[in-house]
Amino acid sequence: MNWPKTLSKPEQVRQTALGRLIVISGPSGAGKSTVVRRLLQKCPLPLELSVSATTRHPRPGEVDGREYQFLTPERFAQLRSEGAFLECKEVFGLGRWYGTLRQPVASGLKAGNWVILEIDVEGALEVMRCDLDPITLFIHPGDRQELERRLRTRKTETDAQIAARLATADAEYEALPYYQHLVINDQVERAVDEICTILKQYQDG
Ligand code: ADP
Ligand code: 5GP
Repeated sequence: MNWPKTLSKPEQVRQTALGRLIVISGPSGAGKSTVVRRLLQKCPLPLELSVSATTRHPRPGEVDGREYQFLTPERFAQLRSEGAFLECKEVFGLGRWYGTLRQPVASGLKAGNWVILEIDVEGALEVMRCDLDPITLFIHPGDRQELERRLRTRKTETDAQIAARLATADAEYEALPYYQHLVINDQVERAVDEICTILKQYQDG
């Protein structure tokens, strides 16, 4: 692969990193965004959420550059061909791309921040192979009925999209053994406290 001059290879990122990389995955609807939002408020570590790029459309209330960088498929493809992504995937097979931009992650780590990637399982497995020594957590919703209930309550997807997300979830559970930590998001505050306690174990080491 041709790496752009302005961006760093994973091993260069790791060598200059002062912070830690954290990968959080789990099925869509498990509560990752809810938990991460609260974690950022509550956990006294220098956490920073990586803003992914996506070709999906913004949901009501989502702001470009805050929840995601919303890109056209053409711009996304261009960045992909330039090697600008640490990882990127077509999630749920519905033609929507999501990706982690290499440059903001590198500068966050260099600044000493603990950079959180909230990404799907396929992307996470790619990052695990990247020699960036991530701390990896899998957020579990409890059971399938609860996952479906949460997706329906959120009211952000059509029935077809919910079906695609539930089908993907079944496959995602199979990747559980690759994660260092499993956290059941039965109650948001409890799950957040558990994640914060896990992360603190990595301080000074
Ligand atoms: P994800 O980011 O994993 O797709 P969200 O954070 O959007 O999931 O959560 C999906 C829905 O479930 C949201 O409506 C959210 O308010 C709700 N939710 C999140 N965590 C819990 C929980 N522990 N108990 C009940 N509902 C939850
Ligand atoms: P949503 O459309 O609900 O915001 O996200 C859908 C799925 O895409 C979630 O499972 C989320 O974790 C995943 N996702 C978000 N950003 C990225 C990313 O940068 N890379 C990958 N591989 N998955 C992502």
